[in-house]
Amino acid sequence: MTRQQGKWYVVFSVEAAFVETCGTGTVGIDLGLNSLVANSDGETISAPRYARQAHKAQRRRQRQLARCKIGSKRRLKAKAPLAAASAKIARQRRDHLHKLSRALVSRYHGIAFGELNLTGLKKGMLARSVHDAAWSTLVQFVRFKAASAGAEVVLVDPRGTSQACPSCGAIGPKALKERQHRCTCGCVLDRDVAAAKIVHRRAFG
Ligand SMILES: [Zn+2]
Repeated sequence: MTRQQGKWYVVFSVEAAFVETCGTGTVGIDLGLNSLVANSDGETISAPRYARQAHKAQRRRQRQLARCKIGSKRRLKAKAPLAAASAKIARQRRDHLHKLSRALVSRYHGIAFGELNLTGLKKGMLARSVHDAAWSTLVQFVRFKAASAGAEVVLVDPRGTSQACPSCGAIGPKALKERQHRCTCGCVLDRDVAAAKIVHRRAFG
């Protein structure tokens, strides 16, 4: 048994030859601006709603803590709920990302990610903090499951993925607020899906 933030956890270890199986086909995945991730097959997955709400509540608790005098009783009291909520958010996030990564590996045998690049996102944006934490964990989980299943994970240079048209290759800069990719060739896509298609092409041709 282990104790974390005042909660007891029973840890079982089971010996099992657990092997993941992978699917067929390849996919490109982009860190979404609109969604948590978008894939080159046109699907977008939102960050779970609870994650956004939990992050908001967490920020409120952090501000409360900041207002308490250092060394005061109030400060000590404010710390416990903050730690408990952090642990809960982390558990929920891991659970969600385990499911997401398993779903990806079971569908594809080649999975490409645009490497983490958050420079486009404003500092302090809620989306940034949610994504920041989730993205690297997702890549890590997919790598682990893919290795077990014999699937391939490729990381590609994300530069310009949000500007190129997946249909005709034309380069057209987009403002952050533009949620859609619209090209003169007639190609209209969710901007994250368009970027995921470019990631896919860079990885698998
Ligand atoms: Zn085009």
